[in-house]
Amino acid sequence: MPRTPYIAANWKMHKTVAEAGEFVDALLPRIAATQSDVVICPPFTALTAVVERRYGTAVKVAAQNMHEAASGAFTGEVSAPMLVELDVEAVVLGHSERRQHFGETDEALARKVPAALAAGLEPILCVGESAEARDAEQTEAVLERQLVADLAAVEGGELGGVVIAYEPIWAIGTGRTATPEQAQEACAFIRDVLRERGAPAEEVRILYGGSVKPANAAELLGQPDIDGALVGGASLDPAEFAEIVAAA
Ligand code: PEP
Repeated sequence: MPRTPYIAANWKMHKTVAEAGEFVDALLPRIAATQSDVVICPPFTALTAVVERRYGTAVKVAAQNMHEAASGAFTGEVSAPMLVELDVEAVVLGHSERRQHFGETDEALARKVPAALAAGLEPILCVGESAEARDAEQTEAVLERQLVADLAAVEGGELGGVVIAYEPIWAIGTGRTATPEQAQEACAFIRDVLRERGAPAEEVRILYGGSVKPANAAELLGQPDIDGALVGGASLDPAEFAEIVAAA
């Protein structure tokens, strides 16, 4: 069975409740005919505003992070059951900005991914190499290390429920996009690693993220192992994001 394309909008720390509502109202008529999974990842405060507007549409909602515990003395954190209670369906885990600025570790991710799955959330696990690692020809080593560590506590059979986003750090928010060949090569490698881990690798959606725009989306999404996109900057404008959805 072909994999359903998966296009996700990572808003990062952008959009108030009012702005989120305006965005969804502008987006929905533009993507009414899509056959793809369209996922919006708002900040915590705007989750409900997006959830309420997307009922009856194909749009899914993802949080941008969660804690691995269901509850506890973790000031400032939000748990998977709390997200499920809001009718959130997915969660971005291990985004490079969280790894870089908030000390997100592979050890924590190894607990978060199974916690998300156990709560019924679809994890969107981000992996990707730095510019230095790419220059040192360490891309595959970095990807394999992250995947093996972050998915250590997930049974091979359960990996079909995980979405992987390949996001080279040097391409995020920089305007510098991986070439379709570079992105394809990395996504194919990720699929091989998942296969070796016992995953139903042909079912797993693998996304590319890093300066995806309407102008480059079709070529990236046309690669055989790229099943979708995780879009940052270009997802803040409904018309631009809808163009990327249409490219899938
Ligand atoms: C991201 O935030 O995951 C991302 C890929 O950002 P951008 O599209 O702005 O590079």
